[in-house]
Amino acid sequence: MILITGATGQLGTAVIHQLLLNVPASQIAAFVRNETKAVNLIKQGVTIRLGTYDDIDALNKAMQGIETVLLIAGTDEENRVSQHQNVVNAAKKAGVRRIMYTSRALKDPATLTNQLMIGHFQTEDYIKASGLSYTLFQNILYMDAIPQFVGGDAVFERGIHLPAGRGRVALALRSEMGEAIANALAINDEGNMTYHLTNSESYSFYDVAAVLTDLSGKPVTYTPAEPATFETQLIGRGLSDVVARRITGFITDIANGQEDIISPDLEKLLGRKPTSLNQGLMLLYNR
Ligand code: NAP
Repeated sequence: MILITGATGQLGTAVIHQLLLNVPASQIAAFVRNETKAVNLIKQGVTIRLGTYDDIDALNKAMQGIETVLLIAGTDEENRVSQHQNVVNAAKKAGVRRIMYTSRALKDPATLTNQLMIGHFQTEDYIKASGLSYTLFQNILYMDAIPQFVGGDAVFERGIHLPAGRGRVALALRSEMGEAIANALAINDEGNMTYHLTNSESYSFYDVAAVLTDLSGKPVTYTPAEPATFETQLIGRGLSDVVARRITGFITDIANGQEDIISPDLEKLLGRKPTSLNQGLMLLYNR
């Protein structure tokens, strides 16, 4: 049986949607913290195991009869390493055979500005040291996050102002990453693996602006911002110092080329080319 954590989240939903095409629902269990969000999963015949990443008893119970766990990274960036360790410990205790984890594709963890991303690599190290068979998915930034980064529909009036320099990101759709992860789940006994789930080309925010110009018929420009100025503007808009620093750091890492990684893995797991920036933004902006 396969246990999917984060099953009521967006990536988890995409994984289970694809998995159900190839695996009977009776073979899928979902670890969820809020049963009211799991109505669709229950309707589809998926078994629900309730709990959070902090609840060791619930994790121990959830692992019973499980052969493979897909650990979808938690959203509590400050505390998630210990939460992930709880999941790995419970899996090991219950004799789970393989653990899979959704990490991040970043070039060099040692030089990251956004230190919170390091938690992904600490989790990877913990999994590797656990002795469990593992599959790691180093996921690139979701293309789905672009509207949020550029300010939704306001981008068509104001343009893009971000401290991303000429940095490039091999943006890919979250739904395709979910599909690829589900396809990897269906592969048995491949040994320890690290997949880099990225698009087959990378894009700068100049490219994003050019695509948005095409889609809207209005000129959308990208003006690279200075990190310090950008951070001050975020604070001026009411964000806390900590959050403003974190967002600025995240985008500075893009400027520094941390997300400029291209791998054939997503294309291989999908069996087709990943959706391009042009097609993806068309979908995301309903154009
Ligand atoms: P999401 O929609 O927010 O889903 C996160 C899932 O994790 C949710 O189901 C959530 O439960 C569950 N969760 C969080 N903390 C938990 C805890 N302490 N115990 C149990 N369950 C917990 O995020 P997503 O879009 O699916 O992305 C999955 C993960 O990828 C995120 O958690 C984040 O670490 C990472 N991420 C990656 C990118 C990227 O660009 N590659 C972007 C954003 C996030 P509920 O459904 O109850 O909320």
